[in-house]
Amino acid sequence: MGLSPEGRGLLLEGGKALGLDLRPHLEAFSRLYDLLMEGNRKANLTALRTEREVVAKHFLDSLTLLLFPLWKGPLRVLDLGTGAGFPGLPLKIVRPELEVVLLDATRKKVAFLEEAVAALGLEGAYPLWGRAEEVAHLPEHREAYHRVTARAVAHLCVLAELGLPFLRRGGHMVAQKGPKVREELSLLPKALGPLGGSLGEVRSFRPPFLEEERALVVLAKEAPTPSAYPRRPGVPEKKPLC
Ligand code: SAH
Repeated sequence: MGLSPEGRGLLLEGGKALGLDLRPHLEAFSRLYDLLMEGNRKANLTALRTEREVVAKHFLDSLTLLLFPLWKGPLRVLDLGTGAGFPGLPLKIVRPELEVVLLDATRKKVAFLEEAVAALGLEGAYPLWGRAEEVAHLPEHREAYHRVTARAVAHLCVLAELGLPFLRRGGHMVAQKGPKVREELSLLPKALGPLGGSLGEVRSFRPPFLEEERALVVLAKEAPTPSAYPRRPGVPEKKPLC
């Protein structure tokens, strides 16, 4: 089955709007679309059902990350709270040289990711089941990544605590946020200092074929994060740093 001619057209046109030539990746996205639909039949993976929604809100919205020139070379990337693989899978498809760890706390989503990675033949994509609060304290993951991505996972004050511990010094986290980002940004400076982070670029825009405004927020890792962070599972959310 795969993406219909309309779906393919939408993907190509949206890609162009983002400065990307997605022609070489049409088959991979088409296969991923099938896997998502199949996964949805077995388990409720994503709320998006129509082809247009999946292409616009999952594939193209994920790829807006590439508006920043942060993805060149064999970097280690952690997609925190990846769900059914967003933005991590589209990023990996379009930038195969990246090593992408797909972290999620929900087991059935990680089971889907394992199937999807195998079916797409992606090398260097690693689904990982766990909570960021725990995984961030494991030596092989702590301060081990060049980039962290997160879409629709938590308030920026929470995300900073969950994500910054994974970053090496000089690394960047890119959070994909909705229109309410301004309020979150006003609080954020209070959390960044203690975590060893700083605020980088913030870019607001409307992704291809979507009505809502989106924002990309870049955080930079300046100094090691004290080992007290992230706090125990659930605490960052219950008592946010800002
Ligand atoms: N990024 C995906 C999914 C968003 S839903 C997308 O944009 O489509 C948020 C996901 O984050 C859920 O799948 C949830 O299991 C995961 N999540 C939330 N808190 C987490 C934590 N502390 N550690 C790991 N995963 C977490």
